[in-house]
Amino acid sequence: MATILDGKKLRDKILDELAKKISSFSVKPKLVVILVGEDSASKIYVANKQKCAQKIGIISEVINYPSDVKEQVLIDKINELNSDKFVHAILVQLPLPEHISKTNIINAIAPQKDVDGFTPYNFGKLFSGEKPYVYPCTPKGVLKLLDEYGIELEGKHAVVIGRSNIVGRPMAQMLMNRNATVTVCHSYTKNLEQITKTADIIVSAVGKNIIKGEMLKSGCVVVDVGIFKDASGKLLGDVDFETSSKIASYISPVPGGVGPMTIASLMLNTVELFENSL
Ligand code: NAP
Repeated sequence: MATILDGKKLRDKILDELAKKISSFSVKPKLVVILVGEDSASKIYVANKQKCAQKIGIISEVINYPSDVKEQVLIDKINELNSDKFVHAILVQLPLPEHISKTNIINAIAPQKDVDGFTPYNFGKLFSGEKPYVYPCTPKGVLKLLDEYGIELEGKHAVVIGRSNIVGRPMAQMLMNRNATVTVCHSYTKNLEQITKTADIIVSAVGKNIIKGEMLKSGCVVVDVGIFKDASGKLLGDVDFETSSKIASYISPVPGGVGPMTIASLMLNTVELFENSL
């Protein structure tokens, strides 16, 4: 039976350490979240981020806009936050309504305050193997989880499934920067099973149940980023836990694996940006 990669336990350890660190600061780090529209999942994510920030002493402000807000209004607000010295981290909750260009909004955030690491400057640094101000939260959380359990990356075959800018792409790059040999799979990949069978480490970020035990190499490490609900409303990941946990040596559960690590990384990033600003 595989060892569980316990994201909740590591999140709590990281948050305890951060809370101690923040209590020693005379000025507190401040995170501002921009939330557009009424998407219920986004509202829950933002509320969780705010609760977590407040618990460890980060000042957290959420600015709400109606879904018909004009793009320029958001850009003007971001510019105002960029020049506010008491704001250290800015996050625009995605997705945005269709009439707003995600690219224009992300590009407006100052790289020094880009807590998600999504601006062209930070992405460019990451993809050229240099250090960005911060790394994107979910892949950062995945690497922290693997490191916590002493999982070697160097020379290992890592298979990343999914190539979004939020997870798959930066994940692949960060694994490559750690000297893993990386294969990226996506919806056009043929014979996924042939590739996953050769993987020492699999990071799956799709949002569909696509990995089963029979697709895995014995003793591999499986990190499940995916989250979706089935018809009955049950929360699922990309990986069939039942069959996969019999073949893998380590596996992350859903919930309780990568999700808590994403929040922990957001808090780490906020504090890193704050410390950089001093
Ligand atoms: P996304 O933008 O929809 O990307 C999904 C990726 O999966 C795409 O690259 C897509 O390929 C690929 N894909 C779709 N069907 C596939 C298939 N049958 N075989 C192989 N690849 C396939 O999603 P995302 O934002 O990256 O998120 C992915 C999942 O992670 C979602 O369930 C999301 O909720 C979850 N997530 C979790 C956390 C967390 O903290 N735990 C954070 C972020 C996201 P194409 O590029 O070819 O379309």
